[in-house]
Amino acid sequence: MNEDTILVVEDEKEIGELVKDYLEKEGFQVVLALDGKEGLHLFHEKKPTLIVLDIMLPEMDGIEVCRMIRTESNIPVIMMTAKKSETDKIIGLGIGADDYVTKPFSPGELVARIKAQLRRYKHFSNPAENQSHSLKVDQLEIDLKGYNVYVAGKKVNVSAKEFQLLHFLATHPGQVFSREQLFNQIWGFESYGDLNTVTVYIRKIREKIEPDPSNPTFIKTVWGIGYKFEGSLS
Ligand code: CA
Repeated sequence: MNEDTILVVEDEKEIGELVKDYLEKEGFQVVLALDGKEGLHLFHEKKPTLIVLDIMLPEMDGIEVCRMIRTESNIPVIMMTAKKSETDKIIGLGIGADDYVTKPFSPGELVARIKAQLRRYKHFSNPAENQSHSLKVDQLEIDLKGYNVYVAGKKVNVSAKEFQLLHFLATHPGQVFSREQLFNQIWGFESYGDLNTVTVYIRKIREKIEPDPSNPTFIKTVWGIGYKFEGSLS
């Protein structure tokens, strides 16, 4: 047995029941909804770990239900479609479903896809991983949860933008970014400012984290291009 609850939203009772029976045999808890509104309601009430969602539904269609769910959750959603062309159309809409099965499908195929989605989802939302969310390179430590930076165990005061810039570079080690790319990344396309802002911030960060700011070891200048972070994270 496992504790995963799967919400199946399908108005065709026979298909819904068939899927439910099959998933229960596989050890899943299954909740069945017969229309889109009920599906959304049960999503809130039962907090399932995955949703199997039909497209054509009374009250609210599967596309709308998926959109609503995506505004508040990244739980895996597998859509059921009536034909391949429908699947293509829905992928084009970018509603954020994770996978698609076209009717008629074999229950075995659906189960395999459900298991694949659950594996992927659990891998990326592993709480044990999130707990130790800090990056370390030699003496430098970046605490992603507390937005703190430590050098040799001592806290260094950084502004929010300095933190974002350092974090961005450190999570892309070895990758070279132009000042323009960094500006867009941290300040956004909408912001006004000149690219010297980036130069100024890089200098400020170096003064705080580098043992010798004029001869940096972490944030390197790549002449004529931009900057890159060096060092392997642990
Ligand atoms: Ca239907």
